[in-house]
Amino acid sequence: MFKWARRQRQAAKLPQGETPGQWFAAYLHQRAQLASSESNFHCDPACGRPGCQNQDLQVPVSLFDILAAAEHQGQPIPAIYHQHYSWGLLANGREDWLRMVTLRLKKPCPFFQNNLCSIYSIRPLPCILFPEYLANEGAFEENARKEYFQDYFCFHRPLLLSPERAKIMTKLKRMWEREMLISSFFLFDYGHCHIDFSNLLEELAAAARSQGDAAERLKPLQIIPNQVLEHFFLQHMAQCPPFAGLGQKISHLETREGQVELLQWLQDDLLLQKLQQRGDDRALVFRFVKGKIQAKRRSLSHPESKCY
Ligand code: SF4
Repeated sequence: MFKWARRQRQAAKLPQGETPGQWFAAYLHQRAQLASSESNFHCDPACGRPGCQNQDLQVPVSLFDILAAAEHQGQPIPAIYHQHYSWGLLANGREDWLRMVTLRLKKPCPFFQNNLCSIYSIRPLPCILFPEYLANEGAFEENARKEYFQDYFCFHRPLLLSPERAKIMTKLKRMWEREMLISSFFLFDYGHCHIDFSNLLEELAAAARSQGDAAERLKPLQIIPNQVLEHFFLQHMAQCPPFAGLGQKISHLETREGQVELLQWLQDDLLLQKLQQRGDDRALVFRFVKGKIQAKRRSLSHPESKCY
């Protein structure tokens, strides 16, 4: 762990005057209000909700989403984590072999019941943001043309945001980035962690073929399903630092001390600033080489990470 990270771990204090539960309830309330404020967007009732159901659409979550779901469902945090969430590897729109390590919802989403979201008021921020954030970032039309999104009814007509809603989308996106960075810090003692799979392509392609994926799609090694990457990560890397001990870290959130740590850090602008400084130019990237995990800081646009 970095020295400054260790200091931050020691620095987490009990909140003054408010219990962690009260502070978190107020935070979720604010998040829920922003989710609907100034918005004209509604899911089409006839839509089959592919975003909630499709196996191959990853919905990343923060630890705050897991805490919220545990509270909402009246379940212990470790139990709800093991039932409904797992490790995830996010491409974040990249077309190479770098993936960001995160937690995600299992799919089809276990909270999708009777064609509705059963945790709507506290649904994860990516569910709140989609698809309005794409309009806010000028990427809506481009995504609407993608074959992948053809069964998403929300892409069948233009989506216009009012200036007020656009500001709220920007705010929600920042909240999401903040939650994700703090979750990574809690779990790994760093900001975001990435895996570079580019040295493992032959091995991963062989694994994909043995798992029954269409062999012809894998020539010339351009498509390796995310499930194959996740399976490799789970088998070879998830037991190594800084990823090891996920179960204990999730269980620590069941304690008051763990919740205070997490919630204090979410409010800590200096910590956020430090984690953001370790952003795309000095990102922490892990590789699996000769049976061992290696880490180095490098730019995420470093040529060695490009495959095509
Ligand atoms: S949490 Fe709700 S909105 Fe998000 S994927 Fe699950 S059912 Fe859909």
